[in-house]
Amino acid sequence: MVLRPPSGGEFRFDPGALWLDLLVSGGPGELAGFETLHTPADLAAWTKLSRLRLDPARVHVTAAELAAAVRLRDRLWELAWALIRGGPVGPELAAVVDEAAAGPPPAPRLRVTGHGFRREWTLPVTGTQLLSAVARDVIDVLTGPYADRLRECGGVRCGLVFLDTSRPGSRRWCSMERCGNRSKVRALRERRAPDAG
Ligand SMILES: [Zn+2]
Repeated sequence: MVLRPPSGGEFRFDPGALWLDLLVSGGPGELAGFETLHTPADLAAWTKLSRLRLDPARVHVTAAELAAAVRLRDRLWELAWALIRGGPVGPELAAVVDEAAAGPPPAPRLRVTGHGFRREWTLPVTGTQLLSAVARDVIDVLTGPYADRLRECGGVRCGLVFLDTSRPGSRRWCSMERCGNRSKVRALRERRAPDAG
């Protein structure tokens, strides 16, 4: 996804999993300033940015579904922080995921292309189906091969969370072009001026 932070500029960021795509839309507490889900249409627009790549015009979201999405997302931030810090994940948090996962997710479709196949989704998609897809993705990730690969970007005051699916498991940055380069520049500056600050 392409992110445009309030501080300006833009950069590419692949969180590595659908449920982490949703975290990018905003969050609780300090993250409220990054909120992008103000109206049902905003959630529909998010589906185009996310790895689902849906046509927002064919995504039907009610006001109640938008509120449920924001609630789920904010609890998923709690889950992500707990996992990153190695803290406990209570059964109550798992129940929040289970509840969203209970309904049917969007149905996949096999699209034949010139070179092979592509997965698409049966449209229209409802907000409730979206939340089910996100919650099922949480379950898939936490019970899958990358369950212990959830990381927070090493950038100063970044806070973006991603699933490190690199083969060696050595991904440190949300994006090389943003935090990776900033960190390199900072290290260089510190090396040149060891007595400063
Ligand atoms: Zn970062």
